[in-house]
Amino acid sequence: MIPIIRTRAELAEHLGSGERRPGLVPTMGALHAGHQALIRRSASENAATVVTIFVNPTQFTDPRDLERYPRDLDRDLALAAEAGATLIFAPGVYEVYPAGFATDVGVAGPSERWEGAARPGHFRGVATVVTILLNLVRPAHAYFGEKDYQQLVVVRRLHADLALPGVIVGCPTVREPDGLALSSRNVRLSEDERRQAPVLIAALTRMAELAAAGEARVDRLIAAGNDVLQTSPVLALDYLAVVDPETLEPLDQIEPGPAGAQALIAGRLGQVRLIDNLALQLSG
Ligand code: AMP
Repeated sequence: MIPIIRTRAELAEHLGSGERRPGLVPTMGALHAGHQALIRRSASENAATVVTIFVNPTQFTDPRDLERYPRDLDRDLALAAEAGATLIFAPGVYEVYPAGFATDVGVAGPSERWEGAARPGHFRGVATVVTILLNLVRPAHAYFGEKDYQQLVVVRRLHADLALPGVIVGCPTVREPDGLALSSRNVRLSEDERRQAPVLIAALTRMAELAAAGEARVDRLIAAGNDVLQTSPVLALDYLAVVDPETLEPLDQIEPGPAGAQALIAGRLGQVRLIDNLALQLSG
């Protein structure tokens, strides 16, 4: 059985003052193969892997979303252990935010648009909890999924700006066979919504194909993506954008070269809000 740590003090005791820093995989639980890929990567690159399971209330803008967030610690423990975790940190809210807690961490720039605009305060919550976890665990490496592309960019910015410990490692998105990005929220999709959910990645893939064939104009790429989205009657699109991969500012044109661009999408299928993203590379 891997140890489950509940408090900051126990965590410090377990980690000791050794030179060999662990890998860190922060999660909100409801683990799936996407989280397991991060844990496996950490297990292959570090002597020990700390998986944190904490449904962070400060990053939820909708209290119903927080309430409905799936929780199953026993299942999470089994999946984390299977993937190579050596320690679980599953603190209570007051352990992360002790009485009198009065600080939050705001990242400007990349956190302002897209998810930041759709979910005010979300990235403050993320940046604050990531800062706390990086400081508590002081990992050699911390692993984040490209699935949450904007979050990864915000975390990289935060990590560089505040000189936080370790190296941030971005990991590729794990998908279902039909392309839908794995997400803890997918279990809340109805059968019909689940059938239509791959339309997000289908639109992004169409845009990537057109860019690869030489289409540099973003308005045309977005129009092509929107044509694909029309095939789903239930999708309520929030945004579809082509952005600079680092600043996340919208682009008019994709420049040739390896930097490329990132296509971002968010939309609602019934009650469930899904996001996805894909790199676009111009050639041809
Ligand atoms: P969450 O528990 O949803 O906050 O996610 C914890 C970490 O797992 C974040 O770094 C996510 O980006 C990452 N993650 C979630 N879903 C996937 C996926 N399908 N593929 C890769 N990483 C993922």
